[in-house]
Amino acid sequence: MAMSGRCLCGQVTYSITGDLLRTAVCHCDHCQRQGGGAFSVNLVTAGENFSHTGTMKMYGDPGDDPSGTVHVERHFCGNCGSPIISIPTGRREIVIVKSGTLNDKSSVSPDVEVWCESKQSWVVMPELEVSKERE
Ligand SMILES: [Zn+2]
Ligand SMILES: [Zn+2]
Repeated sequence: MAMSGRCLCGQVTYSITGDLLRTAVCHCDHCQRQGGGAFSVNLVTAGENFSHTGTMKMYGDPGDDPSGTVHVERHFCGNCGSPIISIPTGRREIVIVKSGTLNDKSSVSPDVEVWCESKQSWVVMPELEVSKERE
C-alpha cells in the first residue's frame, strides 16, 4: 500500500511503499513538545520504503540522557516547522513518520500505545483498551 504526505507549507513531500511495521500512539513528553499536541501517531516503516523531496532540518534529541548523546533524530520542515520523521539512532533501518502529515489519513489505525507513563490523564483510546482486556 503506497502512502504519501507533506508538511504544512508543501516544501517537503514524501511517500511510503510496502507494509507498515506498526502504527504507534506515542505519549512521550518529547513528542508532545515537538508536535504541540497530547500525543503523536507514528507510522513505523523500513527506511528503504521511505522517500522524500525537499530539504528537512534535523534536531538531535538526547531524550532524558544527561550525557547529551543523541537517541532520536527528529527531522522537520525548515520552513513551516512540521515534524515529518524521526530516526532512532540505535535502529537506523527504520523511519518513524508522523501520521498527521499524511495526505489520506483514513487508513491510519494505531495498533499499539507507547510511553503511557506520560500519557495525559484525559486521553482515552477505546480500541487499544479493548485489546488490553483480552490479555
Ligand atoms: Zn513546510
Ligand atoms: Zn514519542
